[in-house]
Amino acid sequence: MAIDPVCGREVDEDSATDKATHRGENHYFYKGQTYYFCSKDCKDKFQTDPEKYIRRL
Ligand SMILES: [Zn+2]
Repeated sequence: MAIDPVCGREVDEDSATDKATHRGENHYFYKGQTYYFCSKDCKDKFQTDPEKYIRRL
Protein backbone atom coordinates (compact mmCIF):
# COMPACT_ATOMS: atom_id res chain seq x y z
CA MET A 1 0.00 0.00 0.00
CA ALA A 2 1.06 3.55 -0.70
CA ILE A 3 -0.15 6.68 1.04
CA ASP A 4 -1.89 9.36 -0.96
CA PRO A 5 0.19 12.43 0.02
CA VAL A 6 -2.74 14.76 -0.52
CA CYS A 7 -5.51 13.24 1.60
CA GLY A 8 -3.51 10.63 3.54
CA ARG A 9 -5.62 7.67 2.42
CA GLU A 10 -4.07 4.30 1.63
CA VAL A 11 -3.89 3.58 -2.09
CA ASP A 12 -3.45 0.22 -3.77
CA GLU A 13 -0.62 0.70 -6.27
CA ASP A 14 -2.13 -1.93 -8.51
CA SER A 15 -5.40 -0.11 -8.91
CA ALA A 16 -3.63 3.19 -9.48
CA THR A 17 -1.52 1.74 -12.25
CA ASP A 18 -2.62 0.28 -15.52
CA LYS A 19 -0.40 -2.78 -15.81
CA ALA A 20 -0.74 -2.98 -19.56
CA THR A 21 0.51 0.50 -20.31
CA HIS A 22 2.14 1.62 -17.02
CA ARG A 23 0.33 4.86 -17.57
CA GLY A 24 -2.13 4.84 -14.71
CA GLU A 25 -4.29 7.86 -14.15
CA ASN A 26 -3.63 8.12 -10.46
CA HIS A 27 0.10 8.13 -10.05
CA TYR A 28 2.72 10.73 -10.66
CA PHE A 29 6.49 10.54 -10.95
CA TYR A 30 8.26 13.39 -9.22
CA LYS A 31 11.93 13.84 -8.24
CA GLY A 32 12.76 10.16 -8.59
CA GLN A 33 9.76 8.86 -6.69
CA THR A 34 6.33 7.68 -7.71
CA TYR A 35 3.38 9.01 -5.73
CA TYR A 36 -0.02 7.37 -5.75
CA PHE A 37 -3.39 9.00 -5.40
CA CYS A 38 -6.89 7.85 -4.57
CA SER A 39 -8.37 9.99 -7.31
CA LYS A 40 -7.55 12.33 -10.14
CA ASP A 41 -8.59 15.22 -7.90
CA CYS A 42 -5.79 14.46 -5.46
CA LYS A 43 -3.32 14.03 -8.29
CA ASP A 44 -4.29 17.39 -9.72
CA LYS A 45 -3.81 19.06 -6.34
CA PHE A 46 -0.41 17.42 -5.95
CA GLN A 47 0.72 18.54 -9.38
CA THR A 48 -0.21 22.12 -8.57
CA ASP A 49 2.19 22.25 -5.60
CA PRO A 50 4.11 18.99 -5.03
CA GLU A 51 6.50 20.40 -2.43
CA LYS A 52 3.65 21.37 -0.15
CA TYR A 53 2.44 17.79 0.08
CA ILE A 54 5.85 16.10 0.16
CA ARG A 55 6.83 18.16 3.19
CA ARG A 56 3.89 16.70 5.11
CA LEU A 57 4.87 13.08 4.50
ZN1 LIG B 1 -6.68 11.28 -2.10
